[in-house]
Amino acid sequence: MKKHKVTKWSAIVLGTALATGLLSACGAAGASQEPPKESQKPAEGDAAQTDPAASPFAASSMQSTIEEKDGKNVVTNPTSMQVVVNKQRYLPDGYEPSDLVVPEVPFSFGGVIEKSHMRKEAADALETLFAGAKEQGIELYAVSGYRSYKRQKSIFANNVAKHGEAEAAKVSAPPGTSEHQTGLAMDVSALSANNELEQSFGDTKEGQWLAEHAQEYGFIVHYLKGKEDKTGYSYEPWHIRYVGKELAQAVYDSGLSLDEYLDEANLSGK
Ligand SMILES: [Zn+2]
Repeated sequence: MKKHKVTKWSAIVLGTALATGLLSACGAAGASQEPPKESQKPAEGDAAQTDPAASPFAASSMQSTIEEKDGKNVVTNPTSMQVVVNKQRYLPDGYEPSDLVVPEVPFSFGGVIEKSHMRKEAADALETLFAGAKEQGIELYAVSGYRSYKRQKSIFANNVAKHGEAEAAKVSAPPGTSEHQTGLAMDVSALSANNELEQSFGDTKEGQWLAEHAQEYGFIVHYLKGKEDKTGYSYEPWHIRYVGKELAQAVYDSGLSLDEYLDEANLSGK
């Protein structure tokens, strides 16, 4: 893995944001930020590497895809394959994907229910990933995909009742902030882990295969070990999120979490 370099340009942008007090926890400051003065611009020739606007993912940056609504930060690109939803970034009220289908892959449970679904493009990619795994002797099972706002609400309420709000927030998302509600996430396990969603799945050969190859199929393992403070979640080796092949490979190569990668402070034209 390549180590990510903080560029001169991003240091300037970040420095400006900090100096003017515009940087919020979700990085929602971008829209109101003034363009840097001519003298602060990086030298000619350097620009292609250091200008976040030159990144192919500039339109999906954390800063350019958020607006404040009723005191909440709501994403403006809920249907994008590159949307970032986390505890500071809500889906719009009532968001429900319109193209949910059931991928043709083995499931850990029988029958078709809500969590069997994913959005069409993600479902197709999941089928290709499972087939690619199988060719290499890796047998995966789909455990949990789409989750509606309503279902997330009841899961979160159960966890709060059992463990209290702070603990509940570490292991489950407040309603409106779950990546599963986008229809782009699937929890995956294997018989060697009893099809459980446990961190030990990461040590199985299936979990290791997933960590090394998911990006080839357009998925990332979103909640990485050591990135808990960036993603807001504990390590979840079983949770894969579809973002498309180009972004998945770029995020993987960067060694950053998706949330970090799409922050303008880290985006570059490379
Ligand atoms: Zn998950």
